[in-house]
Amino acid sequence: MKSPFSRRRFLKQAALGGSAVLAAPWLALRGQNPPARKLGVALVGLGNYSNGQLGPALRGTQHCRLAGVVTGSPEKGRKWAADYGFPESSVYGYETMARLSDNQDIDIVYVVTPNGLHAEHAIAAAKAGKHVIVEKPMANTVAECDAILAACKAAGVRHAVGYRLHHEPHHLELQRFAKEKTFGVFKRMSGQHSFRLGPRNGVKPWRAIHALSGGGPLMDVGIYVIQAACLVKLEEWPVAVTAHEEPKVRPEFFVDVEETLHFTLEFADGAVLEAVTSYERGGNAFRAEGDKGWVELQPAFGYRGITGNSSAGPVTFPAIIHQAAQMDDFAQCIMTGRETPVPGEMGRRDMVIIEAVYEAMRTGRRVEVARR
Ligand code: NAD
Repeated sequence: MKSPFSRRRFLKQAALGGSAVLAAPWLALRGQNPPARKLGVALVGLGNYSNGQLGPALRGTQHCRLAGVVTGSPEKGRKWAADYGFPESSVYGYETMARLSDNQDIDIVYVVTPNGLHAEHAIAAAKAGKHVIVEKPMANTVAECDAILAACKAAGVRHAVGYRLHHEPHHLELQRFAKEKTFGVFKRMSGQHSFRLGPRNGVKPWRAIHALSGGGPLMDVGIYVIQAACLVKLEEWPVAVTAHEEPKVRPEFFVDVEETLHFTLEFADGAVLEAVTSYERGGNAFRAEGDKGWVELQPAFGYRGITGNSSAGPVTFPAIIHQAAQMDDFAQCIMTGRETPVPGEMGRRDMVIIEAVYEAMRTGRRVEVARR
């Protein structure tokens, strides 16, 4: 079989400037003149992901810039203002988010708080008239997703979920293989995304507290495997799921969330995903097989270092900053009126799937996914 990864194509892609896949929607916009004004982003929640990834990524975005923060710590906010060069008047508390409506420098509010607070913060942002990005998972429940969507609709603002994979070349390449049936129709998929979660500074982290997390590793990292499977099934919904939880190794720590979960998704064409997600052990991979070959990513879901292989040879792309690509794409969607590839409806779909997986886990039954 001829390799789908020709050297000429790879070099052409590499020459585009460190970003690789021609199918990537945001690449189509490269080469256009930068907008007269970058859109201002306010980060809500200055924890690990904002501090380690989103803030630094915003220094490298073409179409947006950090213009404000919402934090429980005014001191931390002032430090961010000094580091990123925005006025201290653009530092807000969670309880003063309504005042964002007066700030013309802020166009997009990016919610990066614990999952159980996403709905409250996203709705506050929409009511302040700001476009909203919500981190994954979109919220703790489908009902909360609906409330976010309704608030955005009422305010006439755009919404997106912080799904990096839709802006990451390897995953977009997998989607292209699926569209072009390079390896046939993908019928067998497997994936895992797991890490060992323990106390943080001696305290149980919010990820292990149901009210704040909505669940265990499925909500946090297993959702990436769902994302990857739906991406290569061209955004089809699964029709049914099964799930079973392994006996807990640390039941005293994971009191009201699962620790290790096995689940399957079945698609209408007979394709099946077998997945594992755990807070007890590591794991990071995705594989899809069709009747003409296979492709796998290992690791599959990290911020960098994604490595691809296939029955036709390596799947290789230069590293990009996923978060910069993701935020730039949303800014472009707002400026041009284009649809985002990661709308709130996609976050809601994934919560419908996740609620079905939890029902299957609880009941031990195969649960049909009602498209609702
Ligand atoms: P974190 O614990 O490091 O940060 C959470 C922030 O929320 C902190 O600043 C904390 O002070 C604030 N917060 C406000 N109210 C809180 C409360 N009641 N309890 C606890 N914290 C509160 O978490 P994180 O790793 O930055 O994750 C934040 C969100 O980002 C989560 O939804 C997570 O799923 C998501 N995330 C996404 C990615 C990705 O790759 N897309 C990666 C990491 C995290």
